[in-house]
Amino acid sequence: METAIELKGITKTYKGERQAAVCNVSLKVKKGSIITLLGPSGCGKTTTLRLIAGFERPESGEISIGGKLMAGEKTWVSAEKRKIGMVFQDYALFPHLNVEENIGFGYRGKDKKERVQEVLEMVNLLGFEHKGVHHLSGGQQQRVALARALAKRPEVILLDEPFSNLDTNLKQTMRNEVRRILKKANATGILVSHDQKDALAISDEIVVMKGGIIQQKGSPRKIYQFPNNAFVAGFVGESNMMEGTVEPGKRWIRTDIGRIPCNQYHIISEGEKILISLRPNGFQLAEDGEIEGNVETYSYVGEYLEARISVTTQKKEKTSLLVYLHPNETVQQGDLLKFRVSANFVSVVKN
Ligand code: ADP
Ligand code: MG
Repeated sequence: METAIELKGITKTYKGERQAAVCNVSLKVKKGSIITLLGPSGCGKTTTLRLIAGFERPESGEISIGGKLMAGEKTWVSAEKRKIGMVFQDYALFPHLNVEENIGFGYRGKDKKERVQEVLEMVNLLGFEHKGVHHLSGGQQQRVALARALAKRPEVILLDEPFSNLDTNLKQTMRNEVRRILKKANATGILVSHDQKDALAISDEIVVMKGGIIQQKGSPRKIYQFPNNAFVAGFVGESNMMEGTVEPGKRWIRTDIGRIPCNQYHIISEGEKILISLRPNGFQLAEDGEIEGNVETYSYVGEYLEARISVTTQKKEKTSLLVYLHPNETVQQGDLLKFRVSANFVSVVKN
C-alpha cells in the first residue's frame, strides 16, 4: 500500500512551554484511508494537523507527503506548496462570497467552472452555486468547506473537529456523508476529534493520543476491543478495569470478584498477573452467573439501562461495576443480580 503521509519522530514544543505539545510522534497513513486523531482537549491533535499542513515547524523529526520530504532538519516546504486541503473547525468560509465563489477561491486551473461543478456534485450541492453562504445550514456549510478543500485535488484533506458544531442528528448524517465524499474523491483524510463515537464511526484507523504521545493506533474495532492501556480503555468507551491472575488452561482470569472468561490466551501465560478491561455491555443477567452484586444506582438512558453494581470481593471489600442492562429490564435499588460475562467484552490490557 502506498503511503500518503509519514511522520517520523516529530516533536514540537511551543515557545515558552516546558512540555512538548507533540512528542516523538511517528505515524504512517495509507493513501486513500481515513484516520482520526482522537484524544482529550490539549493532547496535541490540532498541533499535529498544523505540523502536517505546514503551519508549524517541528523542532525534530521528518514529515513526508506523497513520498516527498516536507519538513526535516534541512528541509522546509511552506504550507502553500504542500498539496493539502484543510477544513477548519468553524469552516472559515468567506461570508461575502457565494457558494461557487467560495469553492473556486484560489483555484488557478482553466477548468475552474467544471471543477466547481464536479465537487458540488460530490457534496450534493448542485443548484446552490449562487446562494450566499450565510443562508446555508451548518451541514451545508460544512459541505461547502469540504468542496473547497477538495477542489484543488490535494493529496490529503485535514479536518479539525469537523462535527463539533453540529447537533446530534445532523452529526450522524454528516459523518456518513464526509466518509462517502472522501472515499469518492479517493482522498486521504486526517481528522481530529475528541468524540470517540465520531472517531469509531468514520475512521479506517484511529490514533489515540494523550499528552502529545500516541497511545495506540488501530482499526476502530481493534481500539475498542483490545485497548493497549487503561487510558485507551477508559477514553474509547467505558470500561471496568481489574487485576487478575491467569488460571491454568488460560481461559479464565481469577479476580477479586470471581472468574472472568478471556479468549486472548495467546498473549498471556498461566499464573501471570494481568490487568483486564471489562466493557459494561459484556454482562448478561443469568441465574447461574458467577458475578453477583446489588444495584447501587441506575439510570435509564434509552438505549440501555446504566447500572452501578456493588460487588463484595473475596477479601470482603466493596467494589463497584458499571453494567449496561437491556433497556426493558426493570431493577430497583438494592436488588441482588447475578451476571455471566461474555469473553468478547474482556480484554487484556498491557500497562
Ligand atoms: P488539542 O487539539 O488536542 O486540544 P493542541 O494541539 O491544540 O491540543 O494543544 C496541545 C498543547 O499545546 C496544549 O497544552 C496547548 O495548551 C498547547 N498549545 C497549543 N497551541 C499553542 C500555542 N500557540 N502556544 C502555546 N501553547 C500552545
Ligand atoms: Mg484542537
